[in-house]
Amino acid sequence: MKPFHLIINGRKVPTGRCFDVLNPANEEVAGLASLARKKDLDDAVRAAQMAFEKWREVPESQRQTACLKIASKIEENAEELARILTAEQGKPLNGLGSRWEVGGAVAWTRYTAGLSLPVKVLQDNDEGRVELYRKPIGVVGSITPWNFPVMIAVWHIVPAVLSGNTVVIKPSPFTPLSTLRLVEFMNQVLPEGVVNCIAGKDRLGAAMAAHEGIGKIVFTGSCATGRKIMANSAETMKRLTLELGGNDAGIVLPDVDPKQIAEGLFWGAFINSGQTCAALKRLYVHDDVYDAVCGELVDFARKMKIGEGTNEDVVLGPIQNRKQYGIVSDLVQDAKSRGHVLLGGDPGEIRKEMHGKGYFYPLTIIADLENGDPLVDEEQFGPVLPIIRYHQTREAIRKANDNPNGLGGSVWSRDIENAKRIANQMECGSVWINKHGMIQPNAPFGGVKRSGFGVEFAEEGLKEYTDIQVIFS
Ligand code: NAD
Repeated sequence: MKPFHLIINGRKVPTGRCFDVLNPANEEVAGLASLARKKDLDDAVRAAQMAFEKWREVPESQRQTACLKIASKIEENAEELARILTAEQGKPLNGLGSRWEVGGAVAWTRYTAGLSLPVKVLQDNDEGRVELYRKPIGVVGSITPWNFPVMIAVWHIVPAVLSGNTVVIKPSPFTPLSTLRLVEFMNQVLPEGVVNCIAGKDRLGAAMAAHEGIGKIVFTGSCATGRKIMANSAETMKRLTLELGGNDAGIVLPDVDPKQIAEGLFWGAFINSGQTCAALKRLYVHDDVYDAVCGELVDFARKMKIGEGTNEDVVLGPIQNRKQYGIVSDLVQDAKSRGHVLLGGDPGEIRKEMHGKGYFYPLTIIADLENGDPLVDEEQFGPVLPIIRYHQTREAIRKANDNPNGLGGSVWSRDIENAKRIANQMECGSVWINKHGMIQPNAPFGGVKRSGFGVEFAEEGLKEYTDIQVIFS
């Protein structure tokens, strides 16, 4: 098996030591990645620093063109990237799986390539001229999770290089292969050293947060790791964008048509087998429509095919790793004693179907839970949805907000204006009406409360890769 090597200064760098990357659908080795040492991190940062000296001087229009070339490169190699992604992440090729993720990465790159941060004139009169410049920070360290490795890498890398920074990216040790290959493709159209990729375990991320040569960390991952990054980066006063965990609530009002909303609710919760930051993770349903909504959702879920991702009929894959499988199983086990299992809840059957291999877990819906139950209060990050009954809108809003996270939320109703009023009272960065988690490149996305700070996407997201300089003349 040929290992995927680090990409430093435009070249493939073997390190002499590799680590196994497992396929979660069969627990076999999907590929090998070179393991970076501290020295490789230093080399990558040095390469990025050298490249920054020239890249920062390249006119914005040329950087935009370079980003468009990145989009074309990804597009040309989309099927290969999708297949690597399915092998290491487990998500299916089809449906909202790997091909969709890679296609999204292309679309995001193209859209972002069109953004611009022109000089802003704040004053121009007899007393003088005042201009605001947006200047690149330097070397951006990107640290990514295992749920959407290609898409999130693009979200970090493209705005960073567009605004004149250079990048060292460290993917999750569970899914490094697609990112190593992606960065290799990017290097076919970028000057050497502008984007570097190092693969390694968690401590490599910690070393990046503390590194003297890195000016900003953009991190997507868990709240616990986000806290560690804040602490480790304090000494060097790094700029931070932290896109952390979510426990998004959905509020279903009594005026909905349960059949009509079932599909949206299902994909809002179960996209990527629930391993999605802004997935619907707690559903509050009004008493009037409670039984009907539960019934329609279960009926819709029963039709979904789970399995090995290269099978073209499959729309949902396994949980990505053993640790996450344990977290999901424990939360369900605990919830069973208080809630009412409407679907799934026992991995026995699906494991048998998959010959005991892989981290497969059935789609699970558990009704009649309450705030205070761990499955409601904690982020499950798996194919499980708790449902909570409510009677008063005020009560639903209070319960939705009664959580330290604040990433996304949704309101389901025929009355859009009323739904917007409720949305406004929800403590989270994005609220969708009659859908959930539909992020798009022209709208800023980020969390409030303990879901982090800073936003990605659109002009607001691009600004996060810059420092302000004001020139008074
Ligand atoms: P994780 O925090 O365990 O790991 C994420 C990355 O951080 C990995 O690359 C890991 O190696 C690295 N890391 C681990 N310890 C580190 C340290 N001390 N210093 C620096 N880096 C370190 O998260 P995960 O399990 O890979 O991903 C799941 C979590 O990510 C969920 O909580 C999910 O909600 C969150 N997430 C958030 C968003 C968002 O946009 N808000 C998007 C996707 C995932």
